[in-house]
Amino acid sequence: MGVNISAYRDIKKFLDDHKVELIAVSKTKPVEDILELYQLGQRDFGENYVQELVEKAEQLPKDIRWHFIGHLQTNKVKLIAPFVQLIHGVDSLKLLKEISKQGAKCNRVIDCLLQVHIAKEETKFGFDEEELRLVMDQLEVQGMANVQIAGLMGMASFTKDMQLVKAEFQKLKALFDKYPQLRILSMGMSSDYKIAVEQKSNMVRIGSLLFGQRV
Ligand SMILES: *Cc1c(COP(=O)(O)O)cnc(C)c1O
Repeated sequence: MGVNISAYRDIKKFLDDHKVELIAVSKTKPVEDILELYQLGQRDFGENYVQELVEKAEQLPKDIRWHFIGHLQTNKVKLIAPFVQLIHGVDSLKLLKEISKQGAKCNRVIDCLLQVHIAKEETKFGFDEEELRLVMDQLEVQGMANVQIAGLMGMASFTKDMQLVKAEFQKLKALFDKYPQLRILSMGMSSDYKIAVEQKSNMVRIGSLLFGQRV
């Protein structure tokens, strides 16, 4: 168990070759494990739980870029607004408004990704295509000066059917291409990051391959 250094090196090289950014997903893992990857040069880490993220950020080097990749509750936005690098899973206009409000309080423009529902499962959060269009159209009207929609994020179905996963990533890439102002396409995890990169993801979120299985 523990950090898999050789997997990190291999994955990092593969991603560098494809100009894809790596978010090391450290949820549930101790700060010692994060430091191990930090010492190898990794600076972008992803967490799913606000409390855990805040505690880790306090203990770890200040040049770590923290990505919030979980389901964010509006009442917790204020806890991460002062320092978070990128919020990946924005799935409602209400949440976006709160992020802008908290961004204003700390004088920041907070980068966000809109989560798009591409999987078959009902349990995955996110906008559908039509909802996405509405949000993109409404943004300026609503004058949210302290959020920046930097891109899209999606999770494929949890399945062994890699053709389905590929089709879902293709769909997300096609949506991404509709909005040339977007620059980040966050798709791909441990089980499917190679397929995601083939489908032109430019940011992947990898946990278990680097840190071992979570319990
Ligand atoms: C946990 C998580 C990951 C990483 O999952 P692995 O399968 O361990 O690579 C990526 N994205 C999101 C949104 C997650 O919640």
